Amino acid sequence: MFREVINTISPYIPGKPISEVKRELGLEKVIKLASNENPLGPSENVKKAIKESLSDLGFYPDGNCTELKLKLAKKLNVKPTQIIFGAGSDEITQFIASIFLNPGDNSIMARPSFPRYETVTKVMGGLPVEIPLKNHTHDLDEFAKHINERTKIIWICNPNNPTGTIVKKDELYSFIKSVPSEIAVVVDQAYREYIDDPEYPDATQWLYEFKNLIVLQTFSKIYGLASLRIGYAIASEEIIEKLNRVRPPFNVNHMAQVTAIAALEDTEHIQKAKELNKKSLEFFYKSFEEMNLQYIESYGNFVMVDLKKDAVEIFKKLLLKGIIVRPGDIFDMPTYIRVTTGLESDNMEFIKALKEVL
Ligand code: PMP
Repeated sequence: MFREVINTISPYIPGKPISEVKRELGLEKVIKLASNENPLGPSENVKKAIKESLSDLGFYPDGNCTELKLKLAKKLNVKPTQIIFGAGSDEITQFIASIFLNPGDNSIMARPSFPRYETVTKVMGGLPVEIPLKNHTHDLDEFAKHINERTKIIWICNPNNPTGTIVKKDELYSFIKSVPSEIAVVVDQAYREYIDDPEYPDATQWLYEFKNLIVLQTFSKIYGLASLRIGYAIASEEIIEKLNRVRPPFNVNHMAQVTAIAALEDTEHIQKAKELNKKSLEFFYKSFEEMNLQYIESYGNFVMVDLKKDAVEIFKKLLLKGIIVRPGDIFDMPTYIRVTTGLESDNMEFIKALKEVL
């Protein structure tokens, strides 16, 4: 009855929701530092836009996201026809796999990296080729060695989730240039807005040069709209036109569209989130150093720290104290946890709890 490949796919394991932990453990206060959301949530502008949008909820949304697309295209300096929206950038990974992969084709990705690249490849009957990270970073030389005539997509998560490391400008540029133009190169920049480092490349700048390049971004992270599900891809008009063929007609809901428009205009809120993240990372690094724990320096809003102990055990103990983090076992890093930066008070409570459970 079921396709054979379905049995080889593990369901996505999300960070535990706050409501579930409260219910299961009978806790009143729970701090979630598990899914790389913005702890400030959306801006006041966004909340106002939500109220204003309530009168339109009975109608189907604009499937083309026209107003948002025009605004975003202007901001990014690309044509509106170079953008497609998804119910999260996650949904767009499915579109990408479905327009490029025939059964038996392969796609190349790092391991550990964002697990959806593997899943969407398998769903299409494709073969995920997983290249181990080197020094916790994409090993693009190995990527290049594994390209063959069945390779259709190369996924580069920059910065990488879960390690927070980046591929720097020159290296990424040379790699994309070396990839045959009939292979799609996807650069997932979900955490791009957190980064100021001049060595970090925004791959959007290369879209005119590389017609096989697809850049993924999202409103779930710094913009604080994770629950509304909206992300986007920027690519050549040809690729976007093909992606639109497989997109469900009303995949992005109206509230997501109006809030994304409001969020785009909200530079102050973004700046605030960025500064908070920077401070939080510094606090985590300092605390880990004091505790003699090694960590991987991160360009995102999360950090992997090595507890030198079974991380699932520590995860469970932290949960009992009302703190949700991500154990590293699912990323093949069984002694690490991944912790998202939170509000100042949340960060302090996390470190206090971590000291206790260790
Ligand atoms: N890419 C990366 C690297 C991510 O970490 C995430 C979310 N965890 C996504 C894509 C998906 O984000 P969304 O679907 O919410 O846009």
